[in-house]
Amino acid sequence: MNSSDLRYLMNLPKFEYFEPKTIEEACSLLHKYKGDAMVLAGGTDLLVSMKKREISPKYLVNIKTIPDLNYIRYNGEGLLQIGALATLNEIKDAKIVKEKFPLVAEAAEKSGLPTTRNVATMAGNLCNALPAADSAPLLICLGAKVKIQGVEGSRTMLVEDFFVDSKVNALQNGEMVTEIQVPVLPDNSAGVYLKNPERSVTDVAVVSVGTVITMDAKRAKVVDAKIVLGATAPTPMRAHKAENTIKGKTLDQELIEKAALAASKEAKPRTRPDYKRELVRVLTIRAIKQATI
Ligand SMILES: Cc1cc2nc3c(=O)[nH]c(=O)nc-3n(C[C@H](O)[C@H](O)[C@H](O)COP(=O)(O)OP(=O)(O)OC[C@H]3O[C@@H](n4cnc5c(N)ncnc54)[C@H](O)[C@@H]3O)c2cc1C
Repeated sequence: MNSSDLRYLMNLPKFEYFEPKTIEEACSLLHKYKGDAMVLAGGTDLLVSMKKREISPKYLVNIKTIPDLNYIRYNGEGLLQIGALATLNEIKDAKIVKEKFPLVAEAAEKSGLPTTRNVATMAGNLCNALPAADSAPLLICLGAKVKIQGVEGSRTMLVEDFFVDSKVNALQNGEMVTEIQVPVLPDNSAGVYLKNPERSVTDVAVVSVGTVITMDAKRAKVVDAKIVLGATAPTPMRAHKAENTIKGKTLDQELIEKAALAASKEAKPRTRPDYKRELVRVLTIRAIKQATI
């Protein structure tokens, strides 16, 4: 398909279209056209935003023509590697993900409708940098990183640091995400991702909470806790005070409620603050309980 076909079919604003064959070629196009060029992956965010005339990039760099960016593999040393073109459904259904990284499968499954997930990528979900991006909270809880390739080489960065502001990620001129890397969970760890509303027409979360909790061997005390709030600030955010409330402690109802209250106070919702803070409180209680059953 060329840019004219795509424009005609989708009633898009005018753009020039590239199909690079290598990551290096894609990065050099992005570098050459600076802020005027955008990466096209699944297109579920990008093309919809263009159709709505919310954005009109002059150049689209379609990375789907780059071989070897669609993979999901375990490196044998505790790291799951997800290529930038792996779709959410491919990730959700991958044997290695289901067996060894069930929370990654959950993050993928809860990021969109089944039809959208057939083409949408997890890398695109992160690069879009929406505060409500559904794959982000659990990936942050898991300590996941993105591998970034630019014209001068590659670097990795925690997903937690990749979100800079609402719809702003940490990519510099000429850079793209090539891989998501997820370390294996320590023993006695469990987690969950809860969002409200659970399913809606648009599926955009009003509030979401991701939690991963590691217990000691006797399952008596919390060794580590990650609690990440979505859609309550310009970026998905760690609720550090809530995490510290339960770390090193034996959980009971009172402590869980204290942590949830701390999370609700840490949230920084710009709209409907009382409603969203209450949702954070309620979801955090549920999430901690479900992660420690
Ligand atoms: C009907 C519908 C329902 C949806 N439901 C949900 C939902 O429930 N939860 C949710 O979180 N999202 C949802 N979305 C949004 C969207 O589907 C996801 O964000 C999706 O994962 C985006 O992936 P993509 O491959 O389609 O990205 P694209 O649309 O191709 O790109 C999105 C953005 O990321 C950039 N980009 C993509 N890949 C890269 C890369 N490798 N390197 C650098 N930049 C890159 C693009 O330039 C663009 O700015 C929904 C969208 C639709 C249309």
